Amino acid sequence: MTSLTDRALLERLVGFDSTSRNSNRPIADFVCDYLDSPSVVIHQHPSDDGEKVTVIVRTKDHEAASTPGTPVPGLSLSGHLDVVPADEPEWTSDPFVLTEREGMLYGRGASDMKGFVALAINRFRSTVQDHPSAPLALLLTRDEELGTIGAHHWAKTWNGAPLPTDMLVGEPTELRVVTMHKGFVQLRITLTGIPAHSGYPHLGKSAIEPAGTVLIALTELRRSLDAERPDYSEHFPAVPYPALNIGRVHGGSAVNVVPDHCAIDVGIRLLPTMTGDQMCDRVRAAVADALGDTPFALDLISDSPPMWLDAETDLSSALRAEVQQQETETVSYATDAGWFQTVGYRCVIFGPGSIAVAHKPNERMPIDQFERGGAILDRVISQRYAMTS
Ligand SMILES: [Zn+2]
Repeated sequence: MTSLTDRALLERLVGFDSTSRNSNRPIADFVCDYLDSPSVVIHQHPSDDGEKVTVIVRTKDHEAASTPGTPVPGLSLSGHLDVVPADEPEWTSDPFVLTEREGMLYGRGASDMKGFVALAINRFRSTVQDHPSAPLALLLTRDEELGTIGAHHWAKTWNGAPLPTDMLVGEPTELRVVTMHKGFVQLRITLTGIPAHSGYPHLGKSAIEPAGTVLIALTELRRSLDAERPDYSEHFPAVPYPALNIGRVHGGSAVNVVPDHCAIDVGIRLLPTMTGDQMCDRVRAAVADALGDTPFALDLISDSPPMWLDAETDLSSALRAEVQQQETETVSYATDAGWFQTVGYRCVIFGPGSIAVAHKPNERMPIDQFERGGAILDRVISQRYAMTS
């Protein structure tokens, strides 16, 4: 396939409706075709049902030289191929047709995060043309928007050669260097009763009445979490504690039926070093204490670990120098990087575009930021990572 400009490649990527509910094989196959060359090795790591893939691309020579258990030199570039739905009626142009207006490129995924993915793919392709053994890898995930599911699966099941340890995850940060973010865990508490006609309530058992007890217990837990100041809280001055939100309550079927089920969905933002399992245990203890003998189920619905980089890396210092940024920056959203960190990767979040326009109608990418992001990546790669040939 002939090479495309960054913008033309972004246009092609936006043209795939890779909303998380769809298979990502069409966009993944396109990327693999575009990058295929004799010096490159491409892996499509499938989901358990085979519907979707995570794509890993690297040079054959560098893969052969990468051994488990030791840090792998070079650079990994990572992004997710899926996007959130674009069903909002407020779109003023087709969300799957990249459209320029007033210095902006509009389209679903323009910022989050096909813009960075286009830059990364083109830099990989051009670097490898000149340096067929370049220590570069691409890691393109699936189902990030459903709760970093693809990164989780990849981190737990990938048994191929390890990728370069320093990893750039190009979520939109408006070209700020982010080295820390919170995690996010979703839990569901389910209560089960016995259904009955409400005229004969003695024949049933309500699942909603004990839910009231659970809500009070969760509110108390939320208050005590608000008062905690765990490690790293100073980096999150606006919300320096693990924030618990009772996001949804769903129970019962009709006003004249004693309800046989009630589900309470809870989301908690974790500070660095906290784990979803630990938080699950705290919620279980609080609920069990309040309910006494009443049984309940607690399920971990999704788990996106926090990410933090304790020490400067070649990558973080190179990017900081590019944008002249001294201080640590944090963001309040979770990314795939949390899972990558659990298996030893040292991640930095850095990409063009703004999270403020993501997940909304008329998502867009400023053209000047897109171009500047590409130029920064060019320099960082050529100065540090393309030295072998
Ligand atoms: Zn994203």
